[in-house]
Amino acid sequence: VDGLLGYCRAGFEPELAAEYTARAAEAGLGAYAKTERNSGVVQLLGADGAGLAAALPWRDLVFARQSLRLLAELRGLDPRDRLTPLLAALSDRGLCFGDVWVEHPDSEAGRPLSGLARAFGNALRPALRRHGLLAPAEDARLPRLHVCLLAGDHALLAVADPKTTSPWPLGIPRLRIHGDAPSRSAAKLEEAITVLLDPDERARRLQAGMYAADLGAAPGGWSWILARRYLRVWAIDNGPLAESAHATGLIEHVRADGFRWQPPQTLEWMVCDMVEQPRRVADRIATWLREGWCRQTIFNLKLPMKKRWDETVLCLDLLRERTGMPLDIRARQLYHDREEITVYARRSRSE
Ligand code: SAM
Repeated sequence: VDGLLGYCRAGFEPELAAEYTARAAEAGLGAYAKTERNSGVVQLLGADGAGLAAALPWRDLVFARQSLRLLAELRGLDPRDRLTPLLAALSDRGLCFGDVWVEHPDSEAGRPLSGLARAFGNALRPALRRHGLLAPAEDARLPRLHVCLLAGDHALLAVADPKTTSPWPLGIPRLRIHGDAPSRSAAKLEEAITVLLDPDERARRLQAGMYAADLGAAPGGWSWILARRYLRVWAIDNGPLAESAHATGLIEHVRADGFRWQPPQTLEWMVCDMVEQPRRVADRIATWLREGWCRQTIFNLKLPMKKRWDETVLCLDLLRERTGMPLDIRARQLYHDREEITVYARRSRSE
């Protein structure tokens, strides 16, 4: 086999399959998607696996939690000896890995395999080292081996460049959210900041004393995440904020319509989690960026039940067109996103 292996939220295989095939076609590469509903994995099969991996990096994909280069498929594995066929599949490839992750799909069928994945990983590591396939110590300059267990007797082998793929096993970031957070949604903005910005951008673009607006803020989880970084926040919502949001002393609650409210001055940030039609949200975000009311933004687009990939493309195109200036746009279905995606957008000329 050759091609890509992508992990996604269970149920969103059609979206990742549509995204993969559309992006491969744009790059002029022949490929087709293979998946099963609710499996949490999609394979993009094509002759030019290296070309696909180069043209469709994980960072640029919306619906892929992780995207890897496929190496081999192992079926009918013997539970008493899974190692031998795996080592055979890897020998003669001239590869030495810097790390190995044994994973499973984040799906109903996949999650029960987590114990086996851990145990197999512990057996696999020394065996790979004995065969010269794994560096003596973790080395991020070398490719990383992924073993994705689909069942006890069925695995996909894949390889990743640690620099261009998700740094989290299963593509799921580990975050710790303080128990005081006003809502579970707080984790979503924290994840967006972690995944959509790199450490340097996080430090430079989220600084104490910066001003932000939060449209659709109640009960205040997103505002609270910003206030924890000492930003000052206008929280726009007709609903009430939680006490822990008020307690920060940095959040000003404004009872107003988030589609009408305008900031009294230029803000560094606007974030938006209003439950509304995604096109309407994209249009409002475009107004903010075009008018210069904020320099950058993180917002959610709640996706309809059908044609979610088409709606994603449409909304991001609409955002670009109506803003009418070059934008740096990064969009992703985060682990904490259910029927939605999260977008970071910034005017690319303003630093
Ligand atoms: N991000 C919030 C948090 O972390 O706690 C949760 C936001 S909740 C998903 C959506 C909010 O959007 C609701 O509180 C709702 O009142 C608000 N909302 C919806 N339409 C709005 C509008 N037109 N103007 C202001 N707020 C709106």
